[in-house]
Amino acid sequence: PVRTRFAPSPTGYLHLGGARTALYSWAYARHFGGTFVLRIEDTDVERSTPEAVQAIIEGMKWLGLDHDEGPFYQMQRMDRYREVVAQMLAEGTAYHCYSSPEEVEAMRERMRAAGEKPRYDGTWRPEPGKTLPAVPADRKPVVRFKNPLDGDVSWDDVVKGTITISNRELDDLVIARPDGTPTYNFCVAVDDWDMQITHVIRGDDHVNNTPRQINILRAIGAPLPLYGHLPMILGADGEKLSKRHGAVSVMDYPAQGFLPEAMLNYLARLGWSHGDDEVFSTEQFCEWFNLNHLSKSAAQFNNEKLAWLNNHYIKQADNTRLADLARPQMLAAGAVFEGAPDLAQVLGMMKERANTVNELAAASMLFFREPQPEAELAAQHITDAIKPVLAQFAERIATVEWSKEAVAAMIKEVLAANTIKMPLLAMPLRLTLTGQLQTPAIDQVVVIFGRETVLARLAKWL
Ligand code: GLU
Repeated sequence: PVRTRFAPSPTGYLHLGGARTALYSWAYARHFGGTFVLRIEDTDVERSTPEAVQAIIEGMKWLGLDHDEGPFYQMQRMDRYREVVAQMLAEGTAYHCYSSPEEVEAMRERMRAAGEKPRYDGTWRPEPGKTLPAVPADRKPVVRFKNPLDGDVSWDDVVKGTITISNRELDDLVIARPDGTPTYNFCVAVDDWDMQITHVIRGDDHVNNTPRQINILRAIGAPLPLYGHLPMILGADGEKLSKRHGAVSVMDYPAQGFLPEAMLNYLARLGWSHGDDEVFSTEQFCEWFNLNHLSKSAAQFNNEKLAWLNNHYIKQADNTRLADLARPQMLAAGAVFEGAPDLAQVLGMMKERANTVNELAAASMLFFREPQPEAELAAQHITDAIKPVLAQFAERIATVEWSKEAVAAMIKEVLAANTIKMPLLAMPLRLTLTGQLQTPAIDQVVVIFGRETVLARLAKWL
């Protein structure tokens, strides 16, 4: 059975790269009816915070990336790591090293001077027939992994192809510090083993860790998962995506009025492809997603494309859902909903060109506040010459059948009867009803305001 995991370090928000990693791991599990595990890698106690854990969980929840197991916290698994360290010491795949930090630094310095790659020189590494130095008094040892001396570590990376690293490149890694706390690569290996992870999908900043983790997994007798290392996400300028590029936290996007399905669709395509398909549902993505079409090259984040997708999903979205999203910010901007048109209906009429819910909300405000046309504009458009026409219009409004078609036909008749063109009537109506000159089609605006409101607002000029 497929078991994948997302293993964030809770040191900040859920950024776009992390969200994409989570998405792929999640979709892969969903594709195979497998299990998606959430593991919080919180052993960096200086930088890990409960707020960051919450932010990650909140971001995943917004995107709909539900986990089947966890969250597991590495800090709650310390006993288990100690147990494995003890087992490795007993089996001889790890050893106590009493070299002091100064001594280790000195050996590294010697190697650097000799033009070699600095590494631990194996002073305390037990070998058959070798006599180890006397244990120094009052010094607590670290535990080092007995990395194989010869041969290679090789794996078929599902993104990058075969990667081979010589064991000579790899140090005897410290797996437990003098106080007994386990180190990063060791915890990851033990966790992937205990959680029976079959596919490790993660950012390619971890490629260097993989051979170390593979060697540890082999030493503890664990089966190896498949590894896939995703290239990073770049900003539009080709630089590594960072705060400089604007929003990098996933949760900045709902705040700006992006829909989760748009973000999910966008992230799905950012490093994976299915032919020319650009727009697809989450269900479709889970059905299609496999590890065969992951991109080898870094992806560039493109805000315009995300906005285009968001517009697509806004147009598809249920209007009452859009109303729930838009209402709070419209209230904050002073919208009055009592006695006003139905918000969902207005948003449905206005959403065609909106790239974000926030844009949509702002553009829809005109239906929810008292019209206050600028005096100059009013004087220019609501002239004495046009007021009799407005009066005729008001008279017809009182009895016209309340539909867009009927109102449109009535407007045409009023125009014809007075031999004037549309703008001469539409502009005063727009100013009267909304206080501004730019609105959707006037028949639509009239109908959505309702008979009472239209008559009440016209009365001010007549
Ligand atoms: N905790 C690591 C990170 O946040 C991920 C480790 C992994 O996926 O193996 O970058």
